Amino acid sequence: MPHDHDHHDMPPDPALRVKALETALLDKGLVDPDALDLIVETYAHKVGPQNGAQVVARAWTDPAYLERLRTDATAAIAEFGFGGRQGEHMVAVENTPEVHNLVVCTLCSCYPWSVLGLPPVWYKSSAYRSKAVIDPRGTLADFGLSVPKEREVRVWDSTAEIRYLVIPQRPEGTDDLDETALAALVTRESMIGTGEVKAP
Ligand code: FE
Repeated sequence: MPHDHDHHDMPPDPALRVKALETALLDKGLVDPDALDLIVETYAHKVGPQNGAQVVARAWTDPAYLERLRTDATAAIAEFGFGGRQGEHMVAVENTPEVHNLVVCTLCSCYPWSVLGLPPVWYKSSAYRSKAVIDPRGTLADFGLSVPKEREVRVWDSTAEIRYLVIPQRPEGTDDLDETALAALVTRESMIGTGEVKAP
């Protein structure tokens, strides 16, 4: 059979390609449109870094919670009702004055969806995935973070089995803030390790 059909007739825009793919899957009855809508809705509005920020703020304010997070992060995170898909085996890694933690997935884009939502584009890029391991301090510098050389940088490689959540350091001058106000300071980058939490 002659191989003469055009392989280049896909729309160039990724959004259009996704739409075309979705239409094809729906046409063939391979996906349920309601299920698809629910997944999109969930990860667009309900699951995101605001979840992880609540975990971090509680770890900062409740020593007993921090202890549970250290012992079994999956269970401690589930206390908030966060869990399931891509959040089954969580490990919390704590930043300290001596240690800064950085999370990557060198193989693909494993990421703790239940606490951070969907991964940002740069997290999935091959540039980040390779440089984070070869040159972690250089990677942090790319994000505007300079870690003094006496502070160790630990790189954690996420896998399908283990997802890491960085517990950033609580910034100075936040003693008066309650858990909700603290959570509002916690950024997605600070929980991946490419950022730090700044005082308001
Ligand atoms: Fe991966």
